[in-house]
Amino acid sequence: MAKPQDERTLVLVKPDGVIRGLIGETILRFEKRGLKIIALKMVWPTSEHIDQHYPSHNEWFSNVGSRTSEFFKNKNIDVKEHFGTENAVEIGKQVKDWLLDYMTVGPVVAMVIEGMHAITTVRKLVGHTYPIEALPGTIRGDFSVDTPSAANVEKRVVKNIVHASGNEDEAMHEIEHWFSPEEIHHYKRADEHIMF
Ligand code: UDP
Ligand code: MG
Repeated sequence: MAKPQDERTLVLVKPDGVIRGLIGETILRFEKRGLKIIALKMVWPTSEHIDQHYPSHNEWFSNVGSRTSEFFKNKNIDVKEHFGTENAVEIGKQVKDWLLDYMTVGPVVAMVIEGMHAITTVRKLVGHTYPIEALPGTIRGDFSVDTPSAANVEKRVVKNIVHASGNEDEAMHEIEHWFSPEEIHHYKRADEHIMF
């Protein structure tokens, strides 16, 4: 097993983050925490590339759909009125369709980040999927208030500035999907020997 400080994850500054000028702010937060950028590029993705980036199995659809339903229920909004169904898998599929539109409206900045438990550390810095729920101090919580109750009603996804791999399997798939091995670099940060 890799050492905790060698864990890798994939981050995308999504089109809304790029268009809003939040590339530097996003990267700064990872660097300040002691994480290392080991690959970086700007890409205007195709719809096919985004389709393959996100999972297409029922477990993921169901997970996304049930979180949406739960949120709507808490806000007393009728999920069926807006999605035409209460089925979590169907709702998840609808969200994925909207993701293909949203993630292809402009370029994204893709990066591989390496560092101490990088997958969970980065997710903490990024914050809750719904910016309205994200804590201040996180990227999504500092720069957005978007919410499914506004987004899904307008038939679009929640704009939340960044993507970060959710677990080891996603990280492995996503790093391979966005970068060739030659694009990933090995170097030491000058402060590594002091930090840990
Ligand atoms: N999403 C959405 N509504 C939802 C769930 C997800 O618009 O109810 C969008 C949102 O942009 C999110 C992306 O779909 O970032 C992928 O969903 P996931 O559950 O993987 O969230 P993440 O891992 O990005 O926090
Ligand atoms: Mg995810």
